[in-house]
Amino acid sequence: MSRIVLASSNPGKLKEFGALLADSGLDIVTQGSLGIEDADETGLTFVENALLKARHAAQHSGLPALADDSGLCVDHLNGAPGLYSARYSGTHGDASANNAKLLNAMDGVPTERRGAFFIGVLVLLRHPEDPAPLIAEGRWYGRILTEARGTGGFGYNPVFLPDGYEQSVAEMEEAQKNRLSHRGQALSLLREQIRSRGF
Ligand code: IMP
Repeated sequence: MSRIVLASSNPGKLKEFGALLADSGLDIVTQGSLGIEDADETGLTFVENALLKARHAAQHSGLPALADDSGLCVDHLNGAPGLYSARYSGTHGDASANNAKLLNAMDGVPTERRGAFFIGVLVLLRHPEDPAPLIAEGRWYGRILTEARGTGGFGYNPVFLPDGYEQSVAEMEEAQKNRLSHRGQALSLLREQIRSRGF
């Protein structure tokens, strides 16, 4: 089984990626457990930041590295909060402040102009100089509600209504969300690439 490092210190992500890649023959450890600090996310796109994170983890661990970067892009706000999704309101990870700021920014915007998508990018680097990493991207389209609904999950889940559904993401079952989400889509594309291209 190949050992790879996950460019995150978040045990929740280890659980999520570990479960979804369980049959891929990869044994995943977090960079946090190896004492590796977070990379500076200086890129201007999700894919650049995922590459920076994966390269940093590969460099410092000597192992192949998996990194993800994700966020919410709102059409009416020219793609904001985008790369700044986690700290839109100023404080990193304050979901209720982020949601309040977003609902405020979208106040009075009609339904047909409330389109948005979650994006998740995954990068798997064999080594820090790997010129051809595996890259998988998922997008989950929907729109921004006019008020928060539900309590499940994290982040912008309560204010996002996926296309074709009546429930906000925070009102969905975990398993359903994982099947539909940007991260779920990116993970199945990555698994497919690992299968077809090898790792
Ligand atoms: P990161 O990739 O862990 O840095 O996540 C970026 C931010 O995007 C999170 O802190 C959330 O605010 C938002 N985000 C990403 N994926 C989701 C999701 O599935 N639900 C809700 N918010 C999300």
